[in-house]
Amino acid sequence: MPSLTHAEARARADQLTVRSYRVELDLTRGAERFGSVSTIRFGCAQPGTDTFAELRGTLRSATLNGRELDPTLQDNRLPLTDLGAENELVVVADGDYSHTGEGLHRFVDPADDNVYVYAMSFLDCAQNIFCCFDQPDLKAPVTLAVTVPEEWTVLANERGAQVAAGRWEFTETRPMATYMTTVCAGPYVSQHREHDGIRLGWHARASLAEPLAAAADELLTLTARCFDAYHALFGVRYGFGDTYDQVFVPEFNAGAMENPGCVTHRDELLYRSAVTDAELETRAAIVAHEMAHMWFGDLVTMRWWDDLWLNESFATYLSYRVLPEASAYADAWASFAGHNKLAGYAADQSSWTHPVAPDEVPDADSALVNFDMISYPKGASVLRQLAAWLGDEAFLGGLRDHFARHAYGNATLADLVDSLAAASGRDVAGWARQWLRTAGTNRLRLSTVDGRVGVRQDGVHGAPLRTHRIGIGSYRLDGDTLTREHRVEVEIAGAYTAVPGLADGADLVLVNDGDLTFATVRLAERAMRDLPRLLPAATDPLTRALLWTVAWDATRAADRPPVAFVELVAAAVPGEASPTLAATMLANARGQVTDRYLDPARRPAALHTLAETCRAMLADAAPGSGRQLTALRTLVSCLTEPAELTRLLAGEVSAGVLLDAELRWRLLRRLVVLGAAGPAEIDAELARDHTGQGAVHATGCRAALPDAGAKQAAWQSMTVDDTLTNRQLEALARGFWQPEQAELTAPYVPRYFAEILPATAGRSGELAGRLAGWSFPGYAVSAGTVAAAETLLARDDLAAGVRRALATGRDEVRIALAARSA
Ligand SMILES: [Zn+2]
Repeated sequence: MPSLTHAEARARADQLTVRSYRVELDLTRGAERFGSVSTIRFGCAQPGTDTFAELRGTLRSATLNGRELDPTLQDNRLPLTDLGAENELVVVADGDYSHTGEGLHRFVDPADDNVYVYAMSFLDCAQNIFCCFDQPDLKAPVTLAVTVPEEWTVLANERGAQVAAGRWEFTETRPMATYMTTVCAGPYVSQHREHDGIRLGWHARASLAEPLAAAADELLTLTARCFDAYHALFGVRYGFGDTYDQVFVPEFNAGAMENPGCVTHRDELLYRSAVTDAELETRAAIVAHEMAHMWFGDLVTMRWWDDLWLNESFATYLSYRVLPEASAYADAWASFAGHNKLAGYAADQSSWTHPVAPDEVPDADSALVNFDMISYPKGASVLRQLAAWLGDEAFLGGLRDHFARHAYGNATLADLVDSLAAASGRDVAGWARQWLRTAGTNRLRLSTVDGRVGVRQDGVHGAPLRTHRIGIGSYRLDGDTLTREHRVEVEIAGAYTAVPGLADGADLVLVNDGDLTFATVRLAERAMRDLPRLLPAATDPLTRALLWTVAWDATRAADRPPVAFVELVAAAVPGEASPTLAATMLANARGQVTDRYLDPARRPAALHTLAETCRAMLADAAPGSGRQLTALRTLVSCLTEPAELTRLLAGEVSAGVLLDAELRWRLLRRLVVLGAAGPAEIDAELARDHTGQGAVHATGCRAALPDAGAKQAAWQSMTVDDTLTNRQLEALARGFWQPEQAELTAPYVPRYFAEILPATAGRSGELAGRLAGWSFPGYAVSAGTVAAAETLLARDDLAAGVRRALATGRDEVRIALAARSA
């Protein structure tokens, strides 16, 4: 099907003004299809001309200004001819429910057989639900009516009410883009609170009523405090009525979606088992991120997808900015630096990196792949740099002006630059050219030239050099405490900038102290060697986050042998007070380093070292703490002898550990991988945990069985069966590849490259890319894997998402190969 091009969108936006949508959905027509009637009122600046509306579904009839149209779609397009100055289009259609998290997704809860439906209209899937002009700059108010089984609750972007049995009607929304339209319907259960004139609601499936009740106070309080923080920052109130609902929905692809007034969250975020503080912090960041979108994205929307960073970079930056005051996560910036930014640096040093604000995104399909770690963490970090460079007052002044000028409309990078330039009097356009229009990462380090100490800047893989406003901190190690003695903030540019007053004899001089910029950093050789002593001694979590980042980036760049990272984790994680830093570094050491970067011969020793590190953490962790859980989870993944796992699963766990559903599945899965549990144990566990999540875990465990028949069955489902849901596919692919099963899965490495294109061909752009990424043979670290990926990448007919997944897989294998020879 054709993907809407930028040129088509521009032409249609010049031609049309959409006045309103009225959408009627009938969700009582069985398990496969729903009814959809759309009435669109729109003006046309050039009467007599033609255009088209979009619909993915079965067209029953279409009437334009009372004239019957030929009810034949051209792919997903309904031609509209001879437009009047004012027009009314009525389209009657049937839609198909999806199982891929796109359009109107339908889910049957295995726990109680209840049915749930939710709409995900992003990126161009509103047309899967109702006929529309599906582009971000044709905003219009939407009035929705829905028919459902009597016992259901229906939530949508505005306040709604059940006006007759099974008949729900909603207040007309403020103008919004089609991609933000949602409706959630089913026997959802709810928690509410009033705050500052807004009715806050959290909703979930009936089978999750208990965890929802347990989390309600925390979630409602967080939402209320984020509203207070954003109202104070922006000077303009939440603009989408007097309700703000957040719905935990099943089988959701993203973390969450910012539909105005009705945010959808993946329901794994409603924790049914014990969780770590790191996971709770991530959830809080997601809640704050989606709320920031009510301004950036929803109130002011990008004109076209090339400016999607205006949504994502801002929402990410703002969420970490408000978390310290609006939540219990006072060290959120350290988590951002030591967790989110690692993914940003990885993406920006990959083969496919792109500018934060690309010059041109040709069509909607190409936009989808840019919802990536450039648009989120790198963009957010670049905005933090912008705030540092402009000063906070000018930065916020520019944002307020931007909202005032473009509320309920659309805006571009140029519009934002104008507002920021007016507020600051600085050359923001020049700054944007450097930072938003070019790709690639800078590397900073201390350097002495002609006896003067300064900062040297390099461009990794030829990245252009930029102007940076950075902090430089000098630290002294006193016993086991590393204290900052001196800090300067300076602007640097070009390959070398002398910094007067910098002493060269400190135990540590940290460039980018305070993490104001986006650049990787190297330390002096002695400090680099001393990291296992310096890092645990640093009292400031942000300093530790930066030191962890130095070590991680140097490992990925093959500047340090991977075993040094394992040794650093062993030395510094037991004392690491930040839950997010501890969890991230344990996961990196246990995952990428052990399974990919280390020579396989060194893997057992590394697993042993990490297991001992976890035991040390368990010995002094408070019973029932997140820290205890983090250590136990990692320990489980490090164990290679079934006996201890079996004892743990039988209940011999440390005091305070809850042997709940998620932990049981984690133990069972490790036993399965090691060949110590089989189909009978998986079936028994599923009978114990007959839930949606239990079914996903069981699918993953079956794919992980070290058995040729099980692998063949999993492979067949993954590559051929197009009835599987997005979650089932993910579970299969993630279970299939196990570093312990290299010999068994070796035949599937060439099969992946032979079969992945046909396996993804009939799938939506979103799912095709995801499947290609999940199922990439990343543990097959060899030149042959790189070469096979290259052969596919040489083709010019790859879908954008598949190309991105293949390039990422290839890049990561290259990184692993280089690390192995470091
Ligand atoms: Zn977002």
